[in-house]
Amino acid sequence: MAKILATCFECGDIELHRTDICLRYCIDNQRTELQFNCSQCRQNNIKTVNEKVEFALLMLAVPFVSWGWPEVLSQRNDVATEFSDEEILQLAWSLVTA
Ligand SMILES: [Zn+2]
Repeated sequence: MAKILATCFECGDIELHRTDICLRYCIDNQRTELQFNCSQCRQNNIKTVNEKVEFALLMLAVPFVSWGWPEVLSQRNDVATEFSDEEILQLAWSLVTA
């Protein structure tokens, strides 16, 4: 079985089997990432790959999944709103009387 050279952020250069890694394509940011657990320290590693690496890994029949960000991220309602004058006065009052 062909071995694949990778770099773990903890251990440095390591060897993996094709079944140890997974290519993940994010449909939201159109990035392909390589995900693997290090064969030595078992840390999860995720690295962005370019098209050449992606093609080479797909030719080795590396597992491939596509995924998208959780729907909750597209429904974020965290737009900052300004405090009203009344809210500022209430805050100031609560600090003075604390
Ligand atoms: Zn490692």
